[in-house]
Amino acid sequence: MTNKLLSIITPVHNEADGIQNFIKGSLLPVLEKLTYNYELIIVNDGSTDNTLKIIQNLATNNKNIKIISLSRNFGKEPALSAGLAYAKGSAAITIDADGQQPPRLIPDFIKKWQSGAEIVTGVRSQYTKHGLIQKLGSKLFYKLLRLMGNKSTVPGSTDFRLMDRTVIDEFNKLSEHNRITRGLIDWLGFKQEYIEYIYGVRTAGKPSYNLKKLFHLAIDSFVSMSTTPLVIFGYLGVFITIGSFILGLFCIINQYVLGDPLQLYWNGSVQLAIFITFLIGLLMISQSITALYISHIYAETQGRPLFIVDQKESRNLIKK
Ligand code: UDP
Ligand code: MG
Repeated sequence: MTNKLLSIITPVHNEADGIQNFIKGSLLPVLEKLTYNYELIIVNDGSTDNTLKIIQNLATNNKNIKIISLSRNFGKEPALSAGLAYAKGSAAITIDADGQQPPRLIPDFIKKWQSGAEIVTGVRSQYTKHGLIQKLGSKLFYKLLRLMGNKSTVPGSTDFRLMDRTVIDEFNKLSEHNRITRGLIDWLGFKQEYIEYIYGVRTAGKPSYNLKKLFHLAIDSFVSMSTTPLVIFGYLGVFITIGSFILGLFCIINQYVLGDPLQLYWNGSVQLAIFITFLIGLLMISQSITALYISHIYAETQGRPLFIVDQKESRNLIKK
């Protein structure tokens, strides 16, 4: 067991204030105590402050520390993917560098992995010390995600996560650009377990994800993981079309067949309004159909594999 390698991946963007403390003070002490060898992959995601210098210094003194320095700021999701592409371990753990995800839980992640889980995801048990808007936003996000057909994402899942080698290899095959790691991992499948933890307070520096970025992230998740928003407007169109058709029929029969016994006096503009509403309904339906075609094209361009085989559970297969 002892010669097995674990990869720890941490993305950093302008974390000069806290990175030294985080790595030396809280992460390395945990890693040194593990019964595994470790490699700590720090992905510098285009930091413009002193971060790169600091982690390069750390790496000269500790050969287990590897630095991937991206050419510019690509965002946390691509940074994580870069780390996973270079990870050599039989499992990888991704963890934020701001101290909000406590490294002391790493042994718990490993225990779950040893007892068979292929993915162990950290779930925040409390929305600690987060602004009210973000708290509500996050709740709303998961509600909407569920509503839109993504039933598998557990509310509060974070990117504090362990992935088995099999999962990493499958993940590395994915080539889509607009990626939300969380959603993709859920899409991959495999045996997933959860660890609840209290999301800590940032130890230093500022979060790079402001409300605007989070909002974009949320929109991306919806757009890339489900087609329900497109279908909703289609249904609305069907509802409007049928509704206005019935209303129009009623109008004609009431006016011209029965001679307006209800004395509604629906004149030409009312009739026109009903007709236009009917047409708008048709437009919405055709829009939604077009959008579905586009979403299918989008899915094709993502180039995701058609299926993923769980090699461990399959039997008598010839391995490629
Ligand atoms: N991060 C990154 N690239 C970015 C933004 C953030 O690599 O463009 C890193 C950041 O240094 C930290 C982690 O991703 O280690 C989480 O970032 P942050 O604390 O800003 O996000 P939050 O905690 O709000 O999810
Ligand atoms: Mg943070």
